[in-house]
Amino acid sequence: MYKCYHCGEVIKDPQKLERVVCPHCGFRIFYKVRQPVVRRVKAL
Ligand SMILES: [Zn+2]
Repeated sequence: MYKCYHCGEVIKDPQKLERVVCPHCGFRIFYKVRQPVVRRVKAL
């Protein structure tokens, strides 16, 4: 999970993007953020 350094837009899946640019402002510098909430995953 990454956050745009310029506007703070959160990019959850940078791998999905062709180029890692902010969809909001087009900035290309991001910093990594920890996910605030840990999702519970059901163990099957
Ligand atoms: Zn941005």
